[in-house]
Amino acid sequence: MLRQDILNQYRALLGPEKIDRLCQMAATIKNVKIVHVNSTKDGGGVAEILSQMVPLMKILDLNVQWHIIQGETGFFQCTKMFHNLLQGENSSLPSPSSLQIYEQTNKKNAATLKKVLQEADIVFIHDIQPLSLLSHFPNRKGKWIWRCHIDLSTPSEYIWQYLKKYIDLYDASIFSMKEFSQKLPHPIYIIPPSIDPLSEKNIELDSYEIKNILTKLQIDNNRPYLLQVSRFDRFKDPLGVIETYRLAKTKHPELQLILAGGGASDDPEGDKVLKEVEKSSEGDLDIHIIVLPSNSHRIINALQRGANIVLQKSLKEGFGLTVAEALWKSKPVIGGNAGGIRLQVIDGQTGFLVTTPQEAADRIEDFFQNPQLGQECGRRGKELVKEKFLITRQLQDYLVVMTDMLLSTGQKNRASM
Ligand code: UDP
Repeated sequence: MLRQDILNQYRALLGPEKIDRLCQMAATIKNVKIVHVNSTKDGGGVAEILSQMVPLMKILDLNVQWHIIQGETGFFQCTKMFHNLLQGENSSLPSPSSLQIYEQTNKKNAATLKKVLQEADIVFIHDIQPLSLLSHFPNRKGKWIWRCHIDLSTPSEYIWQYLKKYIDLYDASIFSMKEFSQKLPHPIYIIPPSIDPLSEKNIELDSYEIKNILTKLQIDNNRPYLLQVSRFDRFKDPLGVIETYRLAKTKHPELQLILAGGGASDDPEGDKVLKEVEKSSEGDLDIHIIVLPSNSHRIINALQRGANIVLQKSLKEGFGLTVAEALWKSKPVIGGNAGGIRLQVIDGQTGFLVTTPQEAADRIEDFFQNPQLGQECGRRGKELVKEKFLITRQLQDYLVVMTDMLLSTGQKNRASM
């Protein structure tokens, strides 16, 4: 599709002013070299955002590249430990040899990406996997921004101090919520993530296609279902979701549960958690565990649109794109009372916040007893996402950060000459 056609689709959806403003802001940093770096091409929220954000930046004529660091299993085991410890899990610390693998892997990637990162005007480093890259660019030309996507409200102090020595080197940090921000020696921005309303994951689907997809997945179209879409990760509490479903099913024997998820190449724990989930659901044919390849966006879209209630019962959550995706489809959401879910599930307004499976089952019952409540929550949820959690808003926020960064050195003028 042509650039103008795509922009016109956003204009039709969101009004011309917002999109014209984006175009104007982007034009002021047209020749600035922007690079995003993360650790996986697909699987998980960061890849999901970048796979929409980078093309949109290109449509706006920005000079942007996206690079993915490479690592062996030991590297991702170490970074998953960081991830768990930073999100408050009380687990064992990485060994000195594991930390060495972390540092060495970043050193190797720094060598591979040397030219592009040395010459970039703005570098966004996403999450902790590529964090220590910056220590290998003592004479960097550009501004480096650490974009943190995880729930940092209760980090392990030991790991935080270990990583902070790298974070301190950055020119700015971005957190998804102010509750996650930490004391750092540089400017901090609070920018929640977003979804793309024009992506395969979120575009409108007709009911025929939805029904077809559900039938292929052997889901009974004539019975209600609960849905949680997530990587198989303990913080997403899939076992708590199964318990919730079992409690709700005592009152609604016709209920089905769909747990849809795939892996992410930077998450080595997925298989283990998936096995636990399969074991816990053994013998119940109404629990559908659907393991999907990473590009199953239309299938997930259909699952979300077909669901009666969407669950995201996370115990910790940086943001939870799946919540925004469900709200955008006007679904009532029952979310774990954690992190970024609180920005989206406004208790009693766009869904319900819960902690225990019993609470979740009680709220499911509320939706069953009062279908209008679910419709109202869905309607308000869609409005909230439209106002706050679409990609155009997030890109505008990034343009502000980039402009601030460039102005702070006068680099903007140099780069656009
Ligand atoms: N997702 C997907 N396939 C899966 C599981 C998840 O495409 O099998 C997508 C999901 O629709 C969402 C993103 O991956 O867009 C997950 O982002 P979220 O912020 O919910 O969680 P994260 O995985 O980043 O912790």
